[in-house]
Amino acid sequence: MSATSSKETGKEILGFQAEVKQLLQLMIHSLYSNKDIFLRELVSNASDAADKLRFEALSDPALFENDPELKIRVAFDREARTLTISDNGIGMSRQEVIDHIGTIAKSGTREFFSRLSGDQQKDAALIGQFGVGFYSAFIVADRVTLTTRRAGLTAEHGVRWESTGEGDYTLETVEKPARGTEITLHLREGEDEFLSDWKIKSVIRTYSDHIQLPIVMKKTEWKDGMEVPTEEDETVNKASALWARAKKDIGDDEYREFYKHVAHDFEPPLAWTHNRVEGKQDYISLLYVPSHAPFDLYDRERRHGIKLYVRRVFIMDDAEQLMPAYLRFVRGVIDSADLPLNVSREILQSSRDIEAIKSASVKKVLGLLEDLAANQPEKYSGFWKAFGRVLKEGPGEDYANRERIAGLLRFASTHTDTDAQVVSLKDYVGRMKQGQAAIYYITADSFAAAKHSPHLEIFRKKGIEVLLLTDRVDEWLVSSLPEFDGKPLKSVARGGLDLGELEDEAEKAAHREAEESLKPLVERIKSSLGERVKEVRVTHRLTDSPACLVTGEGDMSAHLERLLKAAGQPAPTVKPTLEINPQHVLVARLNGETDDTRFLDWANLLFEQALLAEGGQLDDPASFVRRLNALLALLPADN
Ligand code: ADP
Repeated sequence: MSATSSKETGKEILGFQAEVKQLLQLMIHSLYSNKDIFLRELVSNASDAADKLRFEALSDPALFENDPELKIRVAFDREARTLTISDNGIGMSRQEVIDHIGTIAKSGTREFFSRLSGDQQKDAALIGQFGVGFYSAFIVADRVTLTTRRAGLTAEHGVRWESTGEGDYTLETVEKPARGTEITLHLREGEDEFLSDWKIKSVIRTYSDHIQLPIVMKKTEWKDGMEVPTEEDETVNKASALWARAKKDIGDDEYREFYKHVAHDFEPPLAWTHNRVEGKQDYISLLYVPSHAPFDLYDRERRHGIKLYVRRVFIMDDAEQLMPAYLRFVRGVIDSADLPLNVSREILQSSRDIEAIKSASVKKVLGLLEDLAANQPEKYSGFWKAFGRVLKEGPGEDYANRERIAGLLRFASTHTDTDAQVVSLKDYVGRMKQGQAAIYYITADSFAAAKHSPHLEIFRKKGIEVLLLTDRVDEWLVSSLPEFDGKPLKSVARGGLDLGELEDEAEKAAHREAEESLKPLVERIKSSLGERVKEVRVTHRLTDSPACLVTGEGDMSAHLERLLKAAGQPAPTVKPTLEINPQHVLVARLNGETDDTRFLDWANLLFEQALLAEGGQLDDPASFVRRLNALLALLPADN
């Protein structure tokens, strides 16, 4: 950061973080068609600042400085062509201005920028996900002046920040008697519509009606055909907490706008649930499911989405005790009438009231999702694409709701044979064959590896559906979901395959016969492969492939072993079982092989190709290639 300063004025010129410049350019272009939203963003910040003040004042009432009536004021000056939004909220110190306004204090910012493509249309969609907040002022202003003083500091600790949004900003110390933040927008050429009382009020009513705080403007009157402000104030918005109002009095648009405020999201939500609970506990919850994943959904440091209020007083953001991690995408407000105002994160952790609110809220969200899945499948599919991988963490995290969460899961399967995750466990169970005892699945590193796995051959032949699991979280999911609807979930690549009633007597007899007759071959392969395998046996899983690898019933799957090792985590090396296909011509050839060296090559090749087919890696690829070439060289030259 470059900084020049002059001692007399304390004025400093500082450079924006490189990303900020880039962000501003992108934002001005992509949000211009929807420019009114800058006012919503600034009002939303002012409201948050008031919430923070009210909260800090709980333990330090002096912060109110004899000015306890929190409000937001919007004013314009036609001559100066400025629009000013001011609040008497918490304000900012000099350092806070540098940290919050000169930098983008969001985790994952770098990652966000690395995803920008330079294609304006594509990037415009991303900017909505990122949320630009304060900077949206530059859509309509070519200069922005922010003057602020933190509550509790004396008047001479005011700070003035000013920028044209072109690379640097100035910072100077000023006197600011009134606590809070005042933002003045010097409107760009052609943005005069924001110098109209009517226009501003209509934007406020459209986007900020739900703001709990009064938004006041000077009343105007008509004089000589001109609209002129009077000395009288009027409150432009409803100025009551939206969530505390009766459901029937809240329109869908109001719910949507409120969402954008609480979630700092530019896109409307997918669905919401609003509940007032009375009885043993009194609280209100308003919970939203967003329509798209935030760019940092998988960032462990990311904020949780629930704001906790106690009797309309904001207590904290990101109250992670109120929503389990697998529902971390949920946004909204919980307002309790019972909790003490001085409730801390530590208290929340051990509070039974909180536990009860959380558990009821989780049920509301699951109910909302079930309703979407049943009645608005298209919306649900959008939800699944955005958040399915997060919801898959649910069965492992929330034992009590395991079956309900399982009902919400969607998978790719051999029924559709596409990578679209659209099959529910209920659909699957409804299609199970007569005599089928288990829900079958395969886990693999990629959809192609799953779909073409040799393990599926017998299932395809018999028309038995298999779920194709290729998300990283799937291994964790299946390990925490042993059954659904009383049917066990079973990996097709693990343990001895017992198809039970799905096989007829003739097939079973043929299998026993092959086992008997190939015993010597099995022994010979086993001694050739030695330590590479745990066991060798005759299979009935395969129709086309010569061999496949199987994991022991209690062993870690080969896929999970690879995932762990790739992540640098310790994982035991599990020896697989090699199963050979008695029907396959290669196996027949091997059975007749008398040359011991050649037999050794063939046996190893059989093992190595089985390993490759399931997405594994060879320890010694060069030897594999040598063996393959040696065998190819045996092919007759004339064909
Ligand atoms: P966001 O609101 O999503 O965090 P913004 O860019 O809108 O992002 O604001 C960045 C930060 O600047 C806020 O989180 C807040 O700390 C601070 N800020 C913005 N406006 C105000 C205000 N009116 N009063 C106090 N702090 C503010």
